[in-house]
Amino acid sequence: MNTLARSERTKVKRLPARGAYDQETIYSILDDGFICHVGFAIDGQPYVIPTGYARIGDHVYIHGSSASRMLRSLAEGIDVCVTVTHVDGLVLARSAFHHSINYRSVVVLGQAKMVEDPAEKEMALEAFTEHIIPGRWPEIRWPSELELKATTVLKLAIDEASAKVRTGDPKDDDEDYGMNVWAGVVPLSSKPGQPIRDSRLADKIDLPTYISEYLRK
Ligand SMILES: Cc1cc2nc3c(=O)[nH]c(=O)nc-3n(C[C@H](O)[C@H](O)[C@H](O)COP(=O)(O)OP(=O)(O)OC[C@H]3O[C@@H](n4cnc5c(N)ncnc54)[C@H](O)[C@@H]3O)c2cc1C
Repeated sequence: MNTLARSERTKVKRLPARGAYDQETIYSILDDGFICHVGFAIDGQPYVIPTGYARIGDHVYIHGSSASRMLRSLAEGIDVCVTVTHVDGLVLARSAFHHSINYRSVVVLGQAKMVEDPAEKEMALEAFTEHIIPGRWPEIRWPSELELKATTVLKLAIDEASAKVRTGDPKDDDEDYGMNVWAGVVPLSSKPGQPIRDSRLADKIDLPTYISEYLRK
């Protein structure tokens, strides 16, 4: 995998050692999530909107209603910033100043393009589902012609992007290490709960293996 060029806009300035530009790091952070925040400006007003995404190859795909202002505006090719963040732990230092968070995040800059090719659009819609819960797509009803028309899919090339990652212990000042106070990391992660059956689900339908496997992950 390649390392992306570090542009003036994507150079991590605070604690630059935590910055990463290699595709392996950037793609693995993107692949570990499915919610991003999309930043863009309309008439000088910035908006940051949460939405789902999936990565396919060197692009991030987003989708939604064809009536969505966000998607309509982005399809015009305005500048966009897509951010993904994972919180991995609370970093409890001895001093208030050095408290921190272990995290992995990615920022991608560029202009999105409308996906016109029907095959690519369907591939993206499959990826949105499979990216969130692998195994789901083959057994659900796929979008009808009408539903496809009502859905806009956009893609953003991962050309100008950066990752920033913090891991490990708190970094306290030398003179604070002797303090009589607990310090360390409290790991944080999202965990699936027990599935709740749809009240209209037929009794004969059992929990599929891909969901029980998802729960065990
Ligand atoms: C976890 C999550 C996943 C989502 N996934 C998708 C997705 O895959 N596809 C999709 O189209 N939408 C998704 N949404 C909804 C998305 O955030 C927008 O609400 C949606 O795109 C509608 O946009 P719009 O163009 O109608 O709104 P806009 O016209 O862009 O928004 C108008 C105003 O409505 C308010 N607003 C819009 N969305 C939100 C919000 N989420 N929270 C608070 N205020 C808001 C803001 O003030 C905004 O300025 C998701 C939301 C969340 C929280």
